[in-house]
Amino acid sequence: MEIEKIKEFLGSYEGPRMKIMEICGSHTGAIHKNGIPKLLSENIELISGPGCPVCVTPSAYIDRLIEISKEEGRCVVSFGDLLRVPGSRGSLSEAMGKGGRVKMVYSPLDILKLAKGEPATEFVFAAIGFETTAPVYAILIDSLIRDNIKNVKILTAMKTMEMAVDYICSSGGGIDGFIAPGHVCVVAGAKEFEAAAEKYALPFVVSGFTGEDILKTLYLLVKNRGKGRVINAYGSVVTYDGNLAAQEMIDKYFERTDAVWRGIGELKGSGLALRTEYAGFDAGSRELVEDIKINRACACDKVIIGAMRPEECPLFKKVCSPMNPQGACMVSPEGTCNTHFAIEG
Ligand code: SF4
Repeated sequence: MEIEKIKEFLGSYEGPRMKIMEICGSHTGAIHKNGIPKLLSENIELISGPGCPVCVTPSAYIDRLIEISKEEGRCVVSFGDLLRVPGSRGSLSEAMGKGGRVKMVYSPLDILKLAKGEPATEFVFAAIGFETTAPVYAILIDSLIRDNIKNVKILTAMKTMEMAVDYICSSGGGIDGFIAPGHVCVVAGAKEFEAAAEKYALPFVVSGFTGEDILKTLYLLVKNRGKGRVINAYGSVVTYDGNLAAQEMIDKYFERTDAVWRGIGELKGSGLALRTEYAGFDAGSRELVEDIKINRACACDKVIIGAMRPEECPLFKKVCSPMNPQGACMVSPEGTCNTHFAIEG
């Protein structure tokens, strides 16, 4: 169907109300950048999900990174968006201000140069992310073994989407369909969401990131309401099985483990941790289960499963802002509260 006809359909839709969740933070940004909510009938509601890796990282993980940054002879290496995420006792950027040693990089592989340049320092990479990022961490471990580099470890809080989506479907939030994350599916394949689609009789459409991609995805979701199926509308880069070479690399070094999601708690088999034979590269990831809010009124736990909109949180824009984040959802540009803050100006 032509895009203008799709717009007309979505704008005049009078069928049963549909609550559609976009799982991925990049989709949240693309939806608002393209003004998509304004094109939809009031019977189609869009809601954001747990697809921002920073937003689901528990406080104990940040607390441990802060401790490491202050330890003699150690240095934390991280992506920039993790630096301002609050733990229970402040953030990494605050730790830097108090003498903690933290370096920001754009790729995990940047740590190789740092490690070679300073052999007396132990560098610890803050390895967060979903299936999309996991292959790069596998390549990093591969490179450490190949180059016999001994002064790098990783602290993992990696997550996989499948069990989080199962949790959302089972928690009674009334979601009628999902915009499935295109980037995750490039690695994991469209099959990643098949089990949840069938179990909960819900449509999942794997989507690209342009405005047209998202409108077509919404059309497919509305048309397939109540049907438990996965439709791949991002066939230019996503296959049913995904990237098998990347999956093999992940399986070589990592195994599924139970993982704590910020605000949600522990989800069985939803994380990735280094296999026992590679435990020498682990900086103590498996003990990091505590999740303490810095502000008890923060509603990130509800926001990331789509049970509450950021605007409904009592702290939104009053106490909580990107300059003064009270919860992880306000920190990253992919976080739901941060995106909504940017839209409201
Ligand atoms: S607005 Fe701030 S305090 Fe409220 S849920 Fe979002 S991050 Fe938490």
